[in-house]
Amino acid sequence: MRILKGIMSALLTLVIICGVLTVSATDTDISAEPIAFNNSDFIRGMDVSSVLSLEASGVSFSDHRGAEQDIFRILADNGVNYIRVRVWNDPFNAQGRGYGGGNSDVSAACKIGARADLYGMKLLVDFHYSDFWADPGKQKAPKAWSNMTVSQKSEAIYDYTYNSLKEISASGADIGMAQIGNEINTGIAGEYDIDDVAELLKSGIRAVKDFDGSVLTAVHFTDPEKTDYIKSLADRLSDYDVDYDVFALSYYPYWHGSLDNLTDVLSYVADTYGKYAMVAETSYANTLEDTDGHANTVSYWSNNTGDDLLWSFTPQGQADELRAVMAAVNAVGDRGLGVFYWEGAWISVGDTTGLSGSAYQSRLEANRGLWESYGSGWASSYSAEFDPDDAGKWYGGSAVDNQAFFDAHGKALPSLKVFSLVSPESYKLGDADGNSDVDALDATCVLRYSALIPLKVKYTSLRHADVNSDGELDTLDATLIQRYSTRVSTPYPIGAYVS
Ligand code: CA
Repeated sequence: MRILKGIMSALLTLVIICGVLTVSATDTDISAEPIAFNNSDFIRGMDVSSVLSLEASGVSFSDHRGAEQDIFRILADNGVNYIRVRVWNDPFNAQGRGYGGGNSDVSAACKIGARADLYGMKLLVDFHYSDFWADPGKQKAPKAWSNMTVSQKSEAIYDYTYNSLKEISASGADIGMAQIGNEINTGIAGEYDIDDVAELLKSGIRAVKDFDGSVLTAVHFTDPEKTDYIKSLADRLSDYDVDYDVFALSYYPYWHGSLDNLTDVLSYVADTYGKYAMVAETSYANTLEDTDGHANTVSYWSNNTGDDLLWSFTPQGQADELRAVMAAVNAVGDRGLGVFYWEGAWISVGDTTGLSGSAYQSRLEANRGLWESYGSGWASSYSAEFDPDDAGKWYGGSAVDNQAFFDAHGKALPSLKVFSLVSPESYKLGDADGNSDVDALDATCVLRYSALIPLKVKYTSLRHADVNSDGELDTLDATLIQRYSTRVSTPYPIGAYVS
């Protein structure tokens, strides 16, 4: 293997010298140790809620080789097995202009869910029950619910949850989980009293189960470093008989304490109440540079880059962080359900790198125009109607473009490979559809894949079909598999177990 790699790298160098292929500095590979997952369906998920707005702004995505692809295919190819999408009731002002942050409503969730399903990925629907961002500082009721009593809101949450899931499912999405509220530490939908919050949660959970009993229901909190407080929230939910399936936390290492503490909090809920436990949001910066002219949360000038952080601000560091969070959830045991990376594709709509003076200003103005028109920034000026004191003042672009798994031009970073590297499987070489047989169907799968026709197979298994190990899945592999299936010998161990 080592010799082969040497030859490959010599070849690559030759290709670069010939100028056929340009390789940027980010093309160095990453490594990640496998994790022995206790739960065989461990979620390796990603939130891409802003992606439609990015595409509308002209952003496109490309794979590790630089070939443009549907981003959902790139994610699936790299081992992502679940997509998370936030849903706001009505993120538009009276004139129909979007508040931004992806203008993430039910119709956007339908499109995202349908595309995820094309590549075999399930969908987590993250209901905020607000018209814009909901977090511990903001749990404002949607405009249409603002004058409702608690019992009217309870009914509204039931109807909204049930009808939205029905619509998203009808669009082709494979809904596996629904979140009843987002970071609800302080309240939900404008209600802050525990009696009222419990009633609303129960109503949302009932709607999910009435829609489909097999869809998991999740409650989601943040600030896991407040260990005793978070545990007490789980106790309160039990006291009030709120019968959810999954206890979810946000974990941003800049603010949220140690990984041991994270495991401790999640284990407490899993062991005491028999719930699944997961991380619904995490992320980490792969650089401290900004690429869109809107200051990033984690930057040279922020106070989020302290010595207590365990990882470098590089693609390797980004992969290391995600692997470590996955391992911390896995340490909970078989009730450790998985991890979602937050907004792993929220990149720049126009690269400002290297620009200065009037060139920088004019690129920034162009970006502002896109953020306003398509909602591809964290907030637009139109959000002032709903959130005048924060979004309405500080609206702009992406504060996390340096935490994405894609560079400023949409090319996949090597760190994206962490999703598959943590979960190596043993498989039969050539088993493209993952059914443990190698036959003509696998050859068909590869042909369809190479012709860019979406396939409804577990995409991670497609990697098994690169039978000549040249890093490409193409008609040559299909031909070799076809030969194997008709008992014609090939120079490759097709049909044998490899890992
Ligand atoms: Ca930025």
